[in-house]
Amino acid sequence: MRVLVTGGAGFIGSNFVRHIVNEYGWETIVYDKLTYAGRIENLRDVLDRIKFVRGDIADEESFTRMVRDFQPDVIVNFAAETHVDRSINEPAPFIKTNIVGVFTILETMRRIGYDILLLHVSTDEVYGDLWGTSRESSEEDALNPSSPYSASKASGDLLIKAYGRTYGLKYRIVRPCNNYGPYQHPEKLIPRSIIRILYNKPPVLYGDGSQVRDWLYVEDTAKAITLVIEKGSDREIYNVCGNMYATVREIVEKILEAMGKPKSFIVYGKPRPGEDRRYAMVCAKIRELGWKPLVGLETGLRLTVKWYLENEWWWKPLVDERYVLADHPW
Ligand code: NAD
Repeated sequence: MRVLVTGGAGFIGSNFVRHIVNEYGWETIVYDKLTYAGRIENLRDVLDRIKFVRGDIADEESFTRMVRDFQPDVIVNFAAETHVDRSINEPAPFIKTNIVGVFTILETMRRIGYDILLLHVSTDEVYGDLWGTSRESSEEDALNPSSPYSASKASGDLLIKAYGRTYGLKYRIVRPCNNYGPYQHPEKLIPRSIIRILYNKPPVLYGDGSQVRDWLYVEDTAKAITLVIEKGSDREIYNVCGNMYATVREIVEKILEAMGKPKSFIVYGKPRPGEDRRYAMVCAKIRELGWKPLVGLETGLRLTVKWYLENEWWWKPLVDERYVLADHPW
């Protein structure tokens, strides 16, 4: 199997690459722009077994050359701008990568004209806020995004579906819930909270921290994506979640406990503009393929706290004033 992994130097992408190289030995090229979120260090233990090319998915010439030269069986697209706070402050890069970038991948596949499977990584955020209901989103539900980030991801999904129907392109879309684990950028909730505690700064919650999320350890997501490549069906969408719900406040309280600090250390701040209060999905389809999460929330959080405590070399250069140390980025 020849796999082209776009965005493979980021958080989930690098964990996925580690999984397919170690467990499957698939021939792998990572194509990544190395934005502030992408780092070659994320792949350091597998670099001798993959090829790495620095490039932008929205750069048609460079991406076409990549695909023509490598002739992948599957393109797994993780490349995206991913931080909701940044999308609130500056939406343009989200439009460029998450919409124009996906469009460029699709156009390249259409022009090249041979059978490639696009495995696209979307998100539960495309379904929008379920607060005030007991509903769970299923794959056929209408998309109802709230932030520039989720709107750009929803747009990517719609373009892919249209190219499948109009041009017969082969795709599979996965929509994972909130991921956490090693190599997640310090701007995101869990690493941000751990690092702030290490700096003796309080973890700041947006609003009262009652937002409900479904939390999945990143290795389980990597396995789910691999399974969809192996056993999924073309032009299908797979929600990926473990129904391990917890509020943002509960997550931060567990981190504080693991790090020996009292819950009273938390500071409750301004609500995030447009914030979704609850996500939940039905994940029966991916379970029917034979997947289930193997890492529970308590274990996953413990492993994650341990990893950040032991890998200061990795996160220290990424700690910035605006998105990690400031109480609010907007
Ligand atoms: P990340 O921000 O850690 O990594 C994104 C990667 O994409 C980086 O390596 C970056 O350099 C690269 N990239 C960005 N723009 C690019 C471009 N134009 N061309 C090539 N490479 C580019 O993101 P992540 O958390 O690993 O998320 C990966 C994917 O999974 C994204 O599509 C995201 O929407 C989706 N997702 C993430 C989560 C989560 O909780 N982290 C949950 C559901 C879905």
